[in-house]
Amino acid sequence: MSSTSYETKGNVAVISMNNPPINGLGHELRTGIVEGLMAAQADAAIKVVVLIGTPRAFSGGADIREFGTPKTFAEPNLNTVIRTLEACTKPVIAAISGACMGGGLELAMGCHYRVALKDAQIALPEVKLGLLPGGGGTQRLPRLIGPELALNMILSGNIVPSAKLAGTQLFDQMVDGDLLTGALAFAGNVVAENLPLKKVRDIKIKMANADAFFQFARNSVSVAVRNLPAPMKCLEAVAAAVTSKSFDDGMRTERELFMQLLPTPESRALRHAFFGERAASKIPDVPDTTPLRKVEKMAVIGAGTMGGGITMNFINIGMPVTLLETKQDALDRGLATIRKNYDSSVKKGRMTAAQVDERMALIKPTLSYDDLKEADMVIEAVFEEIGVKEQVFKQLDAVMKPGAILASNTSTLDVNKIAQFTKRPQDVIGTHFFSPANVMKLLEVVRGAATAKDVLATTMALAKKIKKTAVVSGVCDGFIGNRMIEQYIRQALFLLEEGATPKQVDRAVEKWGMAMGPFRMSDLAGNDIGWAIRKRRYVEYPHIRYSRIGDRLCEQGRFGQKTGLGWYRYEAGKRDAVPDPAVEKMVEDYSKEIGVTRRKIGDEEIVHRLIFALTNEGAKILEEGIALRASDIDMVYLTGYGFPIHRGGPMLYADEIGLYNVILAMRRFATNPRGDPGFWTPAPLLAKLAAEGKSLT
Ligand code: NAD
Repeated sequence: MSSTSYETKGNVAVISMNNPPINGLGHELRTGIVEGLMAAQADAAIKVVVLIGTPRAFSGGADIREFGTPKTFAEPNLNTVIRTLEACTKPVIAAISGACMGGGLELAMGCHYRVALKDAQIALPEVKLGLLPGGGGTQRLPRLIGPELALNMILSGNIVPSAKLAGTQLFDQMVDGDLLTGALAFAGNVVAENLPLKKVRDIKIKMANADAFFQFARNSVSVAVRNLPAPMKCLEAVAAAVTSKSFDDGMRTERELFMQLLPTPESRALRHAFFGERAASKIPDVPDTTPLRKVEKMAVIGAGTMGGGITMNFINIGMPVTLLETKQDALDRGLATIRKNYDSSVKKGRMTAAQVDERMALIKPTLSYDDLKEADMVIEAVFEEIGVKEQVFKQLDAVMKPGAILASNTSTLDVNKIAQFTKRPQDVIGTHFFSPANVMKLLEVVRGAATAKDVLATTMALAKKIKKTAVVSGVCDGFIGNRMIEQYIRQALFLLEEGATPKQVDRAVEKWGMAMGPFRMSDLAGNDIGWAIRKRRYVEYPHIRYSRIGDRLCEQGRFGQKTGLGWYRYEAGKRDAVPDPAVEKMVEDYSKEIGVTRRKIGDEEIVHRLIFALTNEGAKILEEGIALRASDIDMVYLTGYGFPIHRGGPMLYADEIGLYNVILAMRRFATNPRGDPGFWTPAPLLAKLAAEGKSLT
């Protein structure tokens, strides 16, 4: 079906846009609008034109399926369409329902009149992709709703319901009931009253205090968004709408600023994350049409740190959860923690006490496996010991109904082995939540060797319902995220041996953009966890060198925040990491003991050793097929590990530096007599792509 249709109703031409799902402004749609306008102008019987979308969207903006293809800018491009609309010799009325965003809103503002349903969603979200509205949005919106409000919308990119903008010139009329009927009635008035061709470009903006206003805004924006260039350019474009001599001058400024943003690494990173989020849900051998299993009743095993958070995800969407523990006191403790979490939301005014009661009522606490019979899916979050997992999965196998999904939240154990504890390995899957599970966006969905396709598809769909970014991982030690972080932490410890302090390392990567440096992060997670893993590694891989400096710390009982002492000191009740001279001395003594002359290490070396450690392990993970695509790895880091969004993730960052340069840096690091000589051997995939001048993403 064509993405536009043209019909006449008396003296009105109606151009309907129909390019599911949200009327993305693809080439065919753009051409259809222009052709419709030409037909209307050629027909003497037509007096007025209505441009309308579907109930779901007038238009959500650019067609993302065309991104990166020549079709994006092919004529008629968006600006040509808007100019054609504005120059049409017969009045054009935009009839707006549903999403009217980005290029869609710019299209509407090119029309002479706009009528809208009250619940249409209005936004210029380009800033979220590191861009600015480049189809006249920064010039027309300030003319229609005033520069202050327009600046707010353009800087935030957030959706504003049309009803809130009803009093502005953006809308000539709000419509109740059927949109087309309302638009046709409005069209009748335009003809009857011989209303003029109202062009937004002709509106003069009056703003007495413009200079002071924009200076104040510049100061605020520069403080609020340190690492992203787009907000400031958005601001300058809106300022140009007010201060330029003519509309066309303002448009030229908008164009120039847009073109400056397009190639920035920050914009590339934000677009990479936007597409990465969408790509992560696609699994090549599991088509979108895979039938899903019904999941309406959930069960969770273990009401500890993770079980409690996992439970909250489901009761938050109104799904009943049977929560099983071995002992009543553990169950009571778990329930009390969940309630305490909700109570803090009540205190912040985000929830009412009644809502908390409603959600808590969805939990059915139990000590008996018999109560799990009705559940469609169960997520196990018991102690991380294979013997305990075996016991639990054997019991689940005995009681769960046929077809139920059996998931494990294990972070390190072999999901294939866990599946073999049951007679239905096809129904077993890993769901690796991140702590706090009710807050963190990331969910690694671990696909076992036997996991059925519909089990995987159902789990991915469920993840979307609880608003997680789900990334598929194959089975390996640590899955995607933790397997990579182990190499990052190894490097961080080598840096200490060689001359850095915990604070220096943390500060360098935090300045670069990481939410938390490796030592603050370890103190938060508990240094004993990494210690336990290392002790296993010393036995499994005796030939691989690990720094023992972290072991020294743990031998002193400095497990991190929970013990008040770790790589830093923590004062009671506070989370601020205070550098501790005792740790610095311990680090220096350790260097002496192993015969290292400490040296001053620069921030760039610190950052690149840590980030390229992630990239190199990521390339191995990609090559082994543990991750489906490089952007999945980046999504894991962006949503689960506090990686800065403007850097796009460890894989995109390496691409930005250039893989050849990454390899050169790795070769330099490898000449360092300290560390593990094998550490910097490039992953074969990385070496190959670098040699071919290609990239990872
Ligand atoms: P936890 O010690 O806080 O909670 C475990 C709970 O399981 C306890 O309440 C315990 O009473 C209960 N339990 C133990 N054996 C049981 C059994 N046989 N039947 C029912 N309940 C039983 O541990 P946690 O941190 O919540 O970790 C749980 C799982 O989640 C582990 O596999 C862990 O590796 C994984 N995980 C933890 C984190 C984290 O940051 N804590 C992150 C991701 C995954």
